[in-house]
Amino acid sequence: MAEAGTIRLGLVGIGKIARDQHLPALAADGRFALAATASRNAQLDDVAGFPDIDAMIAGVPDLQAVSLCTPPDGRYEQAASAIAAGLHVMLEKPPTSTLSEIAALEEQARARGVTLFTSWHSREAAGVAPAREWLAGKRIETVRITWREDIRRWHPGQEWILGAGGFGVFDPGINALSIATRILPDPLLLDSAWMEVPEGRASPLKAELTMRSGGAVVTADFDFLQTGPQTWDIEVDTDAGMLTLSMGGSILQLPGADAQKASDREYPRLYARFAELVGAGESEVDVRPLQLVADAFLLGERRVGASFSF
Ligand code: NAP
Repeated sequence: MAEAGTIRLGLVGIGKIARDQHLPALAADGRFALAATASRNAQLDDVAGFPDIDAMIAGVPDLQAVSLCTPPDGRYEQAASAIAAGLHVMLEKPPTSTLSEIAALEEQARARGVTLFTSWHSREAAGVAPAREWLAGKRIETVRITWREDIRRWHPGQEWILGAGGFGVFDPGINALSIATRILPDPLLLDSAWMEVPEGRASPLKAELTMRSGGAVVTADFDFLQTGPQTWDIEVDTDAGMLTLSMGGSILQLPGADAQKASDREYPRLYARFAELVGAGESEVDVRPLQLVADAFLLGERRVGASFSF
C-alpha cells in the first residue's frame, strides 16, 4: 500500500532507459510508488503489468501519473490518453517526434489541469548549473560542441532510432542542445546544417550544425559511429578563458581551477522536479532543443551515406 501523499505512477516502455535509470530513481524516491507498468514485451516481478497504456489506465483506477520511456514516435498518443484520463505526465527526451505534437499536449494538459513535464536529463548533470552561473555576464566568443558516440554500444539493436521520428544521431545530439540552451545566456539559433543519412534509413548517423548565440558562433559535431573513446564535450571560449563541460556535462573545468566532478544524480533530480511540479500544480514544457533539431531538418542539407546495420 502506498504511503499517503505518494504519487502512484505507471512506467511506460520497459526498455534500456527504464531499467538503467527510471526504476532505480523511482525505487529511491519516497514521493513515488510504482503502481504498474505498460510494455508490450516486458513485465516486472511484483508490479502489475499491462500490454499498453490504455489497458494500464483502465486496470489501475487510482493511478495518478505516468512516465513515458518509449521511443518518441508514438508517445503523443500515449501522453494524450494519460492527460485525458487526468494523469500527470513526464516525458523522456525528445518529448515528442514533432513540435505540433508537444504544442497540442501542452494545451491538453493545461485544459485538463494536469502536469506535463518535458524532461531533459543532461541538464541535470553535475556541471551544468555551475556552468550556467559562471557564464552569466561573461562575453562568449565561440562554442564547440562535440558529441560522438557508438550507436552499437549505447543503442544495440534499436532499429527505431534510425527510422522516421527516431532522430538518429540527434537522439544523443539533442542532449548537447539541451545543455547549450540551458547554459548560454542568449537564444541559440541555427544558421546552417548538413546531415548524412545511411542508404535505406530515414534518420542521420552524422550531422554538423552551425549556430549563433548573441555574438558567439556555436558549432556542433554529432557522430553516431565513434568507436573507442566516446566524446560528449562542450567548450566555451569567453573573455575570462575557456570553460569545458565534458562527459555529458558531468565534469566542469573552469580556467585556472581543478576539474569539478560529482556523482550522477540526473534521474533522481528529474523525478524530484516532477514531484515538485505535481505538488505545485504546474507544468514545465521547454521545447528549445527540439526546435533546433526541427530547424536542422528544415534547413539542413541531406547527404546519403553508406548503408548501416547493427
Ligand atoms: P529501448 O531500449 O528501445 O526501450 C524503449 C521501449 O519502449 C522498448 O523496450 C519497448 O518495450 C517500448 N516500445 C513501445 N513502442 C515501441 C516502438 N514502436 N518501438 C520500439 N520500442 C517500443 O529505448 P531506450 O534506449 O530505453 O530509449 C527510450 C527513450 O529514452 C528515447 O526517447 C531515448 O532518447 C531516451 N533515453 C535513452 C537513453 C539511453 O541511454 N538508451 C538515455 C536517456 C534517454 P516493449 O517492446 O516491451 O513495448
